[in-house]
This record gives sequence, C-alpha cells and structure tokens, in this order.
Amino acid sequence: MTISPATRQALLERIDAAARAAGRTPARLLAVSKTQPAEAIRALAAQGQRAFGENYVQEALTKQRELADLALEWHLIGPLQSNKCREVAQHFDWLQSLDRAKLIAPLAQHRPAGREPLNVLVQVNIDDEASKSGCAPGEVAALAARIATESALRLRGLMAIPAPAPDAETRRAAFVRMRALFDALRVEHPAIDTLSMGMSDDFDLAIAEGANLVRIGTALFGPRTAPH
Ligand SMILES: *Cc1c(COP(=O)(O)O)cnc(C)c1O
Repeated sequence: MTISPATRQALLERIDAAARAAGRTPARLLAVSKTQPAEAIRALAAQGQRAFGENYVQEALTKQRELADLALEWHLIGPLQSNKCREVAQHFDWLQSLDRAKLIAPLAQHRPAGREPLNVLVQVNIDDEASKSGCAPGEVAALAARIATESALRLRGLMAIPAPAPDAETRRAAFVRMRALFDALRVEHPAIDTLSMGMSDDFDLAIAEGANLVRIGTALFGPRTAPH
C-alpha cells in the first residue's frame, strides 16, 4: 500500500489555500482511515501525518495494536454505542461523535487516571436527518454543560456531517449554521477551539465557513475497499 507523498502535500496546500482565501487560521487534517489497512496508516505516518479517524471501534483497536510502535492521535468519528464507552475511553484521544447524555458518565468513569482527558466534540445533526446520528441543535448547550462537569473529559467543540446536497449553497448554509452554533457555545465555554466539518468533496467550502479540522478519507487514501 503506497500513498504518494505528493497526494498529502497537495491536500495540505489546498487546505492552507482555503484558509488563507477566507482569512482564517489553517485547518488541521484528520486522515479518515476506515476500511484502510494498517500499512496505509503507517505509510502516511511516515509522511508526518499524526491524526487518524476511525468509524468502528473494533476495527480501530486492531489497527492500534498493529501500530503500537507509532505515536498517533486516534479519533472516533463514527456513532458510539453505549457498550463501547469503556474501549473508547481507554484507547482513543478524541471522540467526535458524542450525541447523547447517557454516554458521558461511562466515558468519564473509564478514562484511565494517568491519561490526558478525552477530547470531546458534540456531534450535531445539523440538517435534521431522520437517519443520522447527532443531537438536535437545541440540545448542544445542555450536553456541553454536562461534559464540562467531568474532569476526565475535555470539551473541544462541535462536529457535523451535513446532508449531501447537490448544490454548494445548501451545503454552505449548513456550515454557516454550525459556525453560528459554535460561536454561541464559545460564549459559555471560551476554551473550545475545534469545529470539525468538511470531507473530501467539500472541505474547501467548510474551511471557508470556519471549519478548523477537516476529516478526509478518499481524497487521501483513494477509494475505500469496503462499502462503508
Ligand atoms: C467516512 C467519513 C469521512 C471521510 O469521508 P471522505 O468522503 O472519504 O473524505 C469523514 N467523516 C466521517 C464522519 C466519515 O464517516
């Protein structure tokens, strides 16, 4: 498995260009490695990539074991079932998909004492899609307040996966609504610093509207091998 260094470099340049054009600070690149083999992650790590996003806990744990010799930063970006809270608290650095209050206590309880707090983003179902995970925009404040009471968790901001819209203006509108939610949340929680939105097809637009962490899979690794 090889990923040309030019692919990641070109992506980093597009990310920087989008931020510069919008007068924003540069966004971080999260490499979304679901369905990709550990060797592909190792190849990217050799190019300097440190942050990786996975959707499935068991798949991630298998790769983490194979890559235990590397100092990587692992993000869970897929839906979290309550019976997986312990594994997430023990084996991830970030949880981007927190969307309900009942996950908070088990995550905090299982975070190992010697580790940094688990970084948490609240996932918002910004387009109110029936099939999607994420909380309603109106639930963000209460969830954030609850997270902030746990010293084993560190509230860092918000994440969203807007509905796939054919036209850029509809997508832009979703990003703009997320940015407004983020700004409102920061009044209560001045330390939050992360707005995670934008994927392979729309990260430029997301950055233009204030994303500072973009989650990119296919544009980095190529097509996924399994239909997730
Ligand atoms: C798969 C996935 C991505 C990456 O999608 P690409 O279109 O391959 O860049 C980003 N975020 C989440 C939550 C995902 O599940």
